[in-house]
Amino acid sequence: MQTTGKLHLGNLLGALSNWVKLQDQYDCFYFAADWHALSSNYEDTAQLEENLVDLGVNWLSAGLDPQRCTLFIQSLIPEHAVLHLLFSMVTPIPWLERVPSYKEKMEQVENRDLHTYGFLGYPVLQAADIVLYKASFVPVGVDQLPHLELTRELVRRFHDIYKAKVFVEPDGLMSEVPKLPGLDGRKMSKSYNNAIYLSDSREQMARKIANIVTDPARVRRSDPGDPDKCVAYSFHLAFSPKGENEVTWKECTTATRGCVDCKKHLAKHIMTRLDPLLERRAYWEPRRDEVLGVLREGTLKARAVAKETLAQAEDAMRVNVARLLPGVRI
Ligand code: AMP
Repeated sequence: MQTTGKLHLGNLLGALSNWVKLQDQYDCFYFAADWHALSSNYEDTAQLEENLVDLGVNWLSAGLDPQRCTLFIQSLIPEHAVLHLLFSMVTPIPWLERVPSYKEKMEQVENRDLHTYGFLGYPVLQAADIVLYKASFVPVGVDQLPHLELTRELVRRFHDIYKAKVFVEPDGLMSEVPKLPGLDGRKMSKSYNNAIYLSDSREQMARKIANIVTDPARVRRSDPGDPDKCVAYSFHLAFSPKGENEVTWKECTTATRGCVDCKKHLAKHIMTRLDPLLERRAYWEPRRDEVLGVLREGTLKARAVAKETLAQAEDAMRVNVARLLPGVRI
């Protein structure tokens, strides 16, 4: 997860809630991608450190437990940068230029400079992040699947060139809500200014929910609506109990419930879902040192794994100069 600021409901449903479930089923490594955060925001660094701590607060508030998973910080593990560099030597540029998220953001994001090497190389760094831990699965939202495809292609290319099998080809592990829309119906994203944030006040959330786009053809209260064309209904599917969604469907299509009422129901269910997390946030927020302690322990543990894998990769490439001069590279 990038440290680009506040987490939104898409991050929660697409990734974080799933992370919490998976910590009992797998040996999970979750990290704060603070280098990745620079790739689309290299000038605006004032908040990066605070964002990092805040991400830790959100993780613990969501229910991640450092006894059951490893939580770490990308930029404290230089092996990520070294493997990124080695991978960049064998990555064909057209592979990166055709990544859908690259093309989409280049077209749609107007207020930031994305014409940088770092932004183009984002998925190469991500590939290094994944394969250093020989991950079999990566629990992400649907927007990340092309990056995993690129990771698999890079792994195969590396194995093919250096005639050694070092890495594992990872698969995606999607949550029940792999793509939560934003208020306007596009994917919920910080870049699109259409997100509801975990840090929004209840009033802000209620106001945003009231502004979610509904079926544009339902102009009057008496017009029947089509839930399939209603963004608010997608939110109901993600947050409201199943039985109630059947009622919502019926009342929308027969015009017995208006959109204003429908969104009030929705707001109630979203709040119910968020309440326990927000309560735990109130516990963790003032405990900054404890949060940093968790990240410290996790980072030390992750680094040992990353070091070993990088050494194997450098052996395969026959560039393991660190072996010639032991003790120089720390
Ligand atoms: P990022 O903020 O890009 O680091 O994303 C963190 C995680 O949230 C990634 O696994 C994304 O796939 C996931 N994610 C981001 N936006 C959404 C969304 N609108 N719906 C579902 N998952 C999302």
